[in-house]
Amino acid sequence: NSDIIVTKKRDNYLEWPDYFMAVAFLSAQRSKDPSSQVGACIVNQDNKIVGIGYNGMPNGCDDDLLPWSRCAENKLDTKYPYVCHAELNAIMNKNSADVKGCSMYVALFPCNECAKLIIQAGLKEVIYLSDKYHHTPEMTASRRLLSMAGVHFRQYQPKTTEIVINFNSINGLGTANGTIQ
Ligand SMILES: [Zn+2]
Repeated sequence: NSDIIVTKKRDNYLEWPDYFMAVAFLSAQRSKDPSSQVGACIVNQDNKIVGIGYNGMPNGCDDDLLPWSRCAENKLDTKYPYVCHAELNAIMNKNSADVKGCSMYVALFPCNECAKLIIQAGLKEVIYLSDKYHHTPEMTASRRLLSMAGVHFRQYQPKTTEIVINFNSINGLGTANGTIQ
């Protein structure tokens, strides 16, 4: 019967891992850090997001008064003693009772301080995109801790290198395939 039109589902939809990594990267856009924007997204076993975070100064601490520089004569004039990493914020921002058994999608491989938090929070897996500080003592210590604690970690290569969000797409003014290019 030619009246029956079988509409197949869209095949270029965003798959879960790319989606969660994209959420981490979108969250990173909230960061005020001029040199490094990192986002993290915690997902439970049902593929539900239970926590999102990005790097920033602690709540109530004015990010116009604290330093954002990476190096200074006095360490107190750098961002490092003050800034909260994305992983910490994602764990603290959780909207579930806990994050035990959850996975964390994060733009950068977590440092040793975040590895401690990840372990103590009971996360089971870390999926990261970049490992650009691989050879630093912090990342070496992090790998050591995560491995000993049995937290899996793996680098993830998204299916697509770029996701464009076009607010006009809902009005049919976007790209031919919707919002993903
Ligand atoms: Zn960290």
